[in-house]
Amino acid sequence: MLPNYELKCVKCGYFMEADPWNILCSKCGGLLEPVIVKKPLGVSWPLFRARKFSVWRYKELLPKVRSPVTMGEGGTPLIRLGDDLWLKFEGVNPTGSFKDRGMTVAISLARERGAKNVICASTGNTAASMAAYASRAGLRSFVVLPRGKVARGKLAQAILHGAVIIEVDGPFDVALDAVMMAAGREIGLYPLNSFNPWRLEGQKTLAYEIADELGVPDWIVLPIGNAGNISAIWKGFTELKNFGLINRLPKLAGIQAAGAAPIAKAFKDGRDMPYFTDQPETLATAIRIGRPVNWPKAFKALRESRGVTEVVTDEEISEAHRSLGRMGIGVEPASAASFAGYLKLKGAEIGDDEKVVLIATGHALKDPDAIPHVETVRVSGAEEVASALRRMIL
Ligand SMILES: *Cc1c(COP(=O)(O)O)cnc(C)c1O
Ligand SMILES: [Zn+2]
Repeated sequence: MLPNYELKCVKCGYFMEADPWNILCSKCGGLLEPVIVKKPLGVSWPLFRARKFSVWRYKELLPKVRSPVTMGEGGTPLIRLGDDLWLKFEGVNPTGSFKDRGMTVAISLARERGAKNVICASTGNTAASMAAYASRAGLRSFVVLPRGKVARGKLAQAILHGAVIIEVDGPFDVALDAVMMAAGREIGLYPLNSFNPWRLEGQKTLAYEIADELGVPDWIVLPIGNAGNISAIWKGFTELKNFGLINRLPKLAGIQAAGAAPIAKAFKDGRDMPYFTDQPETLATAIRIGRPVNWPKAFKALRESRGVTEVVTDEEISEAHRSLGRMGIGVEPASAASFAGYLKLKGAEIGDDEKVVLIATGHALKDPDAIPHVETVRVSGAEEVASALRRMIL
């Protein structure tokens, strides 16, 4: 059992033992939230800052593990894009997305609690991350993917790191149903999707790092897929406030693609439930999700933060993808949704003098096919290259 934690059902309020194998409420099947029972003794910014900038810098606020499975995840750069605009570049995590923050925590727990096999449904990045961390931990990994809808770099990573790959017809949501059905303690198969609250405990360090480095911004802008990350980030900030480490909270802006916007559209309409869809569609495959499992936590986070949602088209995502590229920042399309959403919200919901952090969730190399081809300059021989360059420059 994990010291200083209890698990609370966000649906019915039932309390369960803080065991890594407790993943959904045994009473009602609802999502669970790990609650830190009391502020750990001695936690302070100076204590954290004496350690390497990474997920485990904040170990007093994370589940206690004897030997973490770690590759230095977290500690990502906050890149300044403008006077009051920063971008947290999660693409530089060990497998190229923020999923590594959750994986280091959840895989460490799973291994210590006897799991031999791990599984996830994935639009790609969870699979890449899980496969890598499972290999380091000596666990066997199984990934369930929507056939033909996983970006090339992510699939390559899952193969490289030795996952068994199962493809299903249908979107991510069908793959997730399969995982929820198959996983369990009886067969020693540990699920690592974001309905697993222990994974989100790792992801909350995104909030810790932003507060640590920059203080509390007015806005955090991020893409929503299965809605785990927005829930985790909100949990991170609220914990810091409850423990007296910050004295205010940011507002959250959740961005979805027009063809896969069950939460963004519903929240904009003032509804208290998503408009689920069975045919999500967007070029931003990481957020091509029609039935986001963490929606109750996400709605709570959006409401409590007095946040907003925004819907962006695939054209707007592509344009944002390209403009970030021209600023030297290579992200995958889902991450560009943050920037596209910010551009739409700025001057309206987001005030001109407000401090904003965009979460850039994954690296450009994840999805090379999303980068348009251009005409290249073709010449043969060194002399011709030299004269072609002279023509172009002079
Ligand atoms: C997983 C992922 C998302 C969506 O995060 P959720 O927690 O599912 O909302 C967005 N962008 C990238 C690159 C991702 O890998
Ligand atoms: Zn319950």
